[in-house]
Amino acid sequence: MKNIVILGSTGSVGKQVLEVIRAHPNTYKVIGLAAKNEASELVSQIKEFKPKAVVIGDGEESIKEKLAPKPLIFSGQESLKKLVAYPWVDDVVVAIPGTIALEATLKAIQQKKRIFLATKEILVSAGPLIKKFLKKYKGELLPLDSEHSAIFQCLQGEDKTTIKRIILTCSGGPFRKWKKTDLGEVKKEQVLSHPVWKMGPKISVDSATLINKGFEVLEAHYLFGLPLEKIKVLVHPEGIIHSMVEFRDGSVKALLSKPDMKLPIQYALFYPKRPSSPWECLDLTKVKSLSFQKPDTKTFPCLAYAYSAGKIGGTMPAALTFSDEIAVEMFLEDKIKFLDIPKIIKKILKEHLPISNPNLKEILGVKDWVKNQLK
Ligand code: MG
Repeated sequence: MKNIVILGSTGSVGKQVLEVIRAHPNTYKVIGLAAKNEASELVSQIKEFKPKAVVIGDGEESIKEKLAPKPLIFSGQESLKKLVAYPWVDDVVVAIPGTIALEATLKAIQQKKRIFLATKEILVSAGPLIKKFLKKYKGELLPLDSEHSAIFQCLQGEDKTTIKRIILTCSGGPFRKWKKTDLGEVKKEQVLSHPVWKMGPKISVDSATLINKGFEVLEAHYLFGLPLEKIKVLVHPEGIIHSMVEFRDGSVKALLSKPDMKLPIQYALFYPKRPSSPWECLDLTKVKSLSFQKPDTKTFPCLAYAYSAGKIGGTMPAALTFSDEIAVEMFLEDKIKFLDIPKIIKKILKEHLPISNPNLKEILGVKDWVKNQLK
């Protein structure tokens, strides 16, 4: 039995991690949970899994009343660091959208916990720093994102120097085939209804602007140590091929499955073992055909912004994530329109003077700087 902490337990990925754990009893003990403010969902998770400690963003009192016996309950972002650092923690799932869990992730690596990473903003904003920590503390970090899990699986047993390129697949989001002129007045509900994956609001908006794929390009760049020129994106609306690796001899390995996050989650949790799973398998006769297109970066410029931020490096990718984080928040609060999101990101990237080899303080400082620029 391993002891696991789930940061973001009431989100889409967090809930699916719990489903995987439920499907494999006596393998993982859920020892800690953290959620933003979904108190009732969190209370039912606490009752079922009986963790030792819990962090809630706010509403600490409201959950305390409902529980007996009570676990250790903390609130606020700082408590995430405390939660992951307990000596009885083995593994940490990081699945809180945005960069809230960045410091906690670094802390967990420092404390030699194994990381299962779903939050791409963490690697994008602080990739070199995370890698430095992983090297220094001999840490292990496994991707939960379906594309990165697919690449990771395709690379098992392969020599990395034989990779010609990796191809990240992309559903194209809810506005694939749309023209920019039609995107001006799209409603929040349209943005939030992704054609393939059911996800939380932040990542759904990110998928609609395609910045999510841009984040994934940068995430792959750091995870697999490949130059950006070797990382390509291909639109594949059916969402069956989760990514591919092309080798120098022209062979291409792809990972296919039903679009179900539980599969990459299970792969990571049990790596290097591959246990069986109770979920429905892929039936290609039902899928019938698989199609592919080049991404439309004219209509969805955020993908191109991610490549250029990655090329510049330093704190530029952090400026990309923070400007997106704030722009998406403003969009979800109906303060700006959909097409204002790429405009804001473009403006911030143009104004930002990147610091090279940034430390944690410098990376977090970018967030305050971006906030100030957007006041
Ligand atoms: Mg993905």
